Amino acid sequence: MPEDFSGLGLSAKVTDAVAAAGYTKPTEIQAQAIPHVLEKKDIIGIAQTGTGKTASFVLPMLTLLESGRARARMPRTLILEPTRELAAQVAENFEKYGKNHRLTMALLIGGVSFEDQNKVLDRGADVLIATPGRMLDQFERGRILLTGVDILVIDEADRMLDMGFIPDIERICGLLPARRQTLFFSATMPPEIQKLTNRFLRDPIKIEVARQNSTAETIDQKLVKVSNKPEEKRAALRALIRGEKDLKNAIIFCNRKRDVATLARSLQRHGFSAGALHGDMDQKSRMETLDAFKTDKLKLLIASDVAARGLDIPAVSHVFNFDVPTHAEDYIHRIGRTGRAGRSGVSITLAAPSDGKYLDAIVKLIQRDIPVMKLDGIVIEAPADERASESGERRRRGSRTRGPRLKPEAAETAETAPAAKPHREPRPERPRQEERPRHEERSRQEERPVPRAPRERGKSSSPFGSDGPVPAFLLRPSSTR
Ligand code: AMP
Repeated sequence: MPEDFSGLGLSAKVTDAVAAAGYTKPTEIQAQAIPHVLEKKDIIGIAQTGTGKTASFVLPMLTLLESGRARARMPRTLILEPTRELAAQVAENFEKYGKNHRLTMALLIGGVSFEDQNKVLDRGADVLIATPGRMLDQFERGRILLTGVDILVIDEADRMLDMGFIPDIERICGLLPARRQTLFFSATMPPEIQKLTNRFLRDPIKIEVARQNSTAETIDQKLVKVSNKPEEKRAALRALIRGEKDLKNAIIFCNRKRDVATLARSLQRHGFSAGALHGDMDQKSRMETLDAFKTDKLKLLIASDVAARGLDIPAVSHVFNFDVPTHAEDYIHRIGRTGRAGRSGVSITLAAPSDGKYLDAIVKLIQRDIPVMKLDGIVIEAPADERASESGERRRRGSRTRGPRLKPEAAETAETAPAAKPHREPRPERPRQEERPRHEERSRQEERPVPRAPRERGKSSSPFGSDGPVPAFLLRPSSTR
């Protein structure tokens, strides 16, 4: 592998910017992809986030863009991203590595006004970064002509599939010139994605930097058995957070966005520096929360899969799965938030008895067991055969609902978010999502109906909640209250 960026064929402007960014050695995907991109080859990059894949297309694109110039309403390159945050992140990469260029960039994502972006497009954009729904919206309004696109990047294709964007992608591919270069990235290659590449890529070079469906070796993965009850899961989570001595900051994943909000509020009430990130928040608050987390003002980020997808936060020490993801691939994406770029990280998954089949699917996918970590003080809901004897034990002690060590905790029976419509059918697998921006970033998981939980009743003592001081570094700074 090359020891530095000088032998890859990148222009001096680009290598200077890379050096200024502090990167000296190309990552594996960069070393393998960059020379081929510069030769104008189509690429299939099978790489997880955290491998440096963004720079693997941004750097050679900048070099290629040095010749030629943009024409009004005809972007020269198009980068499709599944979420606004990812799109914004790619834009940041273009700014960072393109600081020696005078290229124009437009960003078409939900939640921000079109006005400024339209002005850029009208003048002529070298780079257009967009989510598929927004892009098609603007195309239909006649704001963009796609006939000048030389390079198309489809990033996080498997997530596009999850979000129902594949028909949009197919449509967009049909609107672009046939003679274009396509750079295609995906962490996994399910059959639908394979089909897409067969159809739209020409003689692609396939680059795979980590075993498909693998998890990084730098992540210490653990499993903690917990009860199905949300309040007990929250108590267990707090105990885990307090117990992890090397925890600097963490992303905590929930399966449903309602639970994201509830858990964030619960952690805040317990004195933690915590913020929520989910698809229903407006763009401004999402960016603010993300920024607070990146700049260390916020220590715990509670997130849904869609909102957190591909977030580039290099120094996350811990990932918690408050819920076991129902789609095994999400496990890889989630824990991939830690242990990035060679750093070590810890992932802890809270598994309830009802999660068995999801765990099995994960273990099968990652082809390894996740060691079970025992946490003193956490009550594990016993399997059915043990439950009978345990209930006898409870009767003797006079407790009706909890296991031996758990005291009642009124503060943690909260579900303050409004309930979903009770009679909706669960969505089918991989549904086609709404095409328009308001819905473009919702996952099927986020849309699933959630049963109403009991109302908040106020604080009281807890076996985990108020039993010890919150470590100082996890306390909310007063500015974020
Ligand atoms: P990505 O996979 O694109 O999300 O990138 C993951 C992280 O790796 C980002 O924080 C990048 O800034 C960082 N990165 C990209 N290229 C390099 C490199 N050559 N050396 C070290 N870190 C890098």
